[in-house]
Amino acid sequence: MSKSSANQLQDLQYFGEFGGVNPSVSDSSTYTFLSAKTMFDTFEGNTEGCYLYSRHSSPSNLYLGEALAALEGTETANVYASGMGAISSVIMQLCDSGDHIISSRTIYGGTYALLKNFMKKFVIDTSFVDITAIESVENAITANTKMIYCESVSNPLLEVADLKALAALARKYDIPLVVDNTFSPLSIKPSELGADIIIHSLTKFINGTSDCVAGAVCGTTEFCLSLKDVNNGAGMLLGSTLDSLRAASILKNMRTLHIRMQQHSKNALYLAEKFEADGFKVAYPGLRSHSGYETMKDQMNTTYGFGGLMTLDVGSLENANALMELMQTEKLGYLAVSLGFYKTLFSAPGTSTSSEIPFEEQLEMGLSNGLIRFSIGLDNDIERTYQLMTECMNRLSIKGKTKVAS
Ligand SMILES: *Cc1c(COP(=O)(O)O)cnc(C)c1O
Repeated sequence: MSKSSANQLQDLQYFGEFGGVNPSVSDSSTYTFLSAKTMFDTFEGNTEGCYLYSRHSSPSNLYLGEALAALEGTETANVYASGMGAISSVIMQLCDSGDHIISSRTIYGGTYALLKNFMKKFVIDTSFVDITAIESVENAITANTKMIYCESVSNPLLEVADLKALAALARKYDIPLVVDNTFSPLSIKPSELGADIIIHSLTKFINGTSDCVAGAVCGTTEFCLSLKDVNNGAGMLLGSTLDSLRAASILKNMRTLHIRMQQHSKNALYLAEKFEADGFKVAYPGLRSHSGYETMKDQMNTTYGFGGLMTLDVGSLENANALMELMQTEKLGYLAVSLGFYKTLFSAPGTSTSSEIPFEEQLEMGLSNGLIRFSIGLDNDIERTYQLMTECMNRLSIKGKTKVAS
C-alpha cells in the first residue's frame, strides 16, 4: 500500500535530547569537532551527519526538510528564510548568464518581478506564457531554456497548471519542471505528476499562523546538495538560511496541516458556491464554471479539496475597498496580504500582491480592478460567515448580476 503524504508525515518520529516528544532545537550557529581532520572532511562534504555551521545545515532545519520531503514525496528538501529565498536559489542554481526561462505569466508578483526585472542583471531572459496552452509553452522553448516554471494553482487567478502535460513536455526536451505548490499543499502532489523541483512559501498554509516567513525546495538529494555546496551552491552562498528556532516552530505547526487544509477547502467551496449562485463572478477551482476545474479534479487528492483561495469580482476598486474595510470592521477577517491564516485574509491583488505586474498586463491576464482575493479562514460556522458577508454587501449595495428566471 502506498502511503499518502499525510500518513508519511504522521509516521515521522523524533525524540528530543531528553526523550521529549518534540526534537530538541539546535540553538547553535557553529559546531565543535573532536579532531581537526574531521573538520576538514566536513568542509569537503565527505562526512555525513556532521554539522559545521548553521548556514549550511542544522539539525532543526534537517528535521523540517525531512517533513517537507515526506509531504511532497521527494528524496529530500532544503528550507530557506523565505519563499523568495527558495525561488531565487533555484533559479540561480539552474541558470547561467545567457540562459532562458519559460514561466507562467500568472505567478506570484514577487516571482514575476524577480524573473522579469532582477534577472536582467544576469542576462537571464524569461518568456511569460499562458501555461494552460501547452503548445505555446512548447513554442517558447529555445536551445538555452533551462527551466519551465509555474504554480500548480496560480496566484491570484487560481489558474490550474496541467502538471502531467507540462512534465511530459519538460521530459521530452530534458528541461526541469519547477513547480511552486504554495497554494495547494496535500491537495496537489506535483512529484507524482512528474515535476522535478517543488517549491513552497512555508509562510502560507504550511506554517499557517502568519507569524514568520520561510520557504522550501523539495527535490532530489543531488539537486538539494548542490544548493548547499560550499563552493557553488546558491542556497549556501546567497545565504537565505532559515533560523533553527523558526524551523522548529514550523515543524510543529505542520502537524495540523491535513486538518487545516480540509477546513479551508470546505469553507472556501461553500462560499464560492453560494456567491456564484447569487450571481457574482467567482473564481474557485472547485466550481464547474472554473477553467481549471477538470484539470484540478484530475490531479488532486480529493480528501483535501480545492484549496482555501477564492476570488470575487465586485465590479470596481471602490466597491472592493469599501467591502474589505467593512468586512474587517465586522470582524470577518483582515484586510491583509498573505494566506493560510485561521482568519480570512482579503486584499485587492491589482493594487497589492500583483502590483509588480504592469496594469495593461494585469488586464490581459484577466486581473480586473474589482477583484478581491480571499484566503478563507478556518471559520467554525461558515453559514454564519456567508450571511454576515452578504449583509456587508447589501449595506454597500454590491449586488450580483440579477439571475434571469428560466
Ligand atoms: C507568498 C508567496 C511566495 C513568496 O514567499 P515568501 O515567503 O513571501 O518569500 C511565492 N509564491 C507564492 C505562490 C506565494 O504565495
